[in-house]
Amino acid sequence: MSLAGTHLHQLDCPAPDSLPVDPLAWLEELPGATLIRQQGLQSGPPRVVCTLLHGNELSGVKAVHRWLSSAMKPHFDTLFLVVGVKVCLTEPRYTLRQLPDERDMNRCFLPPFEDRPGRLAEQILALLRSQCPESMLDIHNTSGHSPAFGVATHEDPAHEALLSLFAQHLVVTDLRLGAIMEHSDRHCPIVTIECGGLTDPKADDIAWKGLQRYLQQEDVLTPQEGLQIDLYHHPVRLELTPSCVLAVANQPVLGADLTIPKDLDRYNFGEVEQGLPIGWVASERSLERLKLHNKSGEDLMGQYFRCCGNHLVTAQRLKLFMVTTSPTIAASDCLLYASLEREHTRLNT
Ligand SMILES: [Zn+2]
Repeated sequence: MSLAGTHLHQLDCPAPDSLPVDPLAWLEELPGATLIRQQGLQSGPPRVVCTLLHGNELSGVKAVHRWLSSAMKPHFDTLFLVVGVKVCLTEPRYTLRQLPDERDMNRCFLPPFEDRPGRLAEQILALLRSQCPESMLDIHNTSGHSPAFGVATHEDPAHEALLSLFAQHLVVTDLRLGAIMEHSDRHCPIVTIECGGLTDPKADDIAWKGLQRYLQQEDVLTPQEGLQIDLYHHPVRLELTPSCVLAVANQPVLGADLTIPKDLDRYNFGEVEQGLPIGWVASERSLERLKLHNKSGEDLMGQYFRCCGNHLVTAQRLKLFMVTTSPTIAASDCLLYASLEREHTRLNT
């Protein structure tokens, strides 16, 4: 196992006119995973913006590049993290979520920290401990089409206020997977921001506008009056077992345990009725190649999905999100998240 590239480099804040105009050209100048500290207008605990934990999710780092290229100053000191530089610049460039022989970086914020992404995660956690930030955002893109949303492990006004700088949907999860936002607490709320699809220009715009609000507002932890947030509680993940063969096509594929249509991601954050087909299964036994557990490891498949003829259908009215049509992500992470409609509430502050 190579441990090259495990160091978190620290750079002085660059002068705005020293940065290349192209954000991707800027990435090539960085020595690897990088921390940049920018001084704020007022003293106080710093804010943290983490980007590029996944090497192909560029909206966050583009927004940071645009911010550093401007003459604007943040209200408080800000720590910018640009993590997956090596992953992003590995061929085929800008397309890899993680290196082929490595773990998903955003599943590495739990010990043991032995491999390359683990070592980086450990240094980022040490940084958070030493700097005692006021709050932190971790900016991502979804692989499929999706409106912007946030994910948090806490349900409270501070997390909702942070989310509202970018989006209106907030997933409150009790799943523990090793993501950085799981280190959130009342001293430093952390929210994962999913700005929208990888290739959607709107996602870049959402990241940019949200980042400006986060950096310029004096108070980012009190929800604005009248704020409306859609909350989704305790989602479950539909996962594939290692032997599951997944196909993505608009008709059932011979030999596949599950075939999903190419546009399955259109259901992201939509409410779907009971009995909605989400794909084709080879037989009822194909369900054994899928996994849907709650955080205690209880099998809840029957509550969410069942077979109907050769279709996999929803077993009741559901909200679906983070639906991917990428077989690689479906296999290494999950096919989708679902929450029961009754666990979806609208919060009006
Ligand atoms: Zn991501």
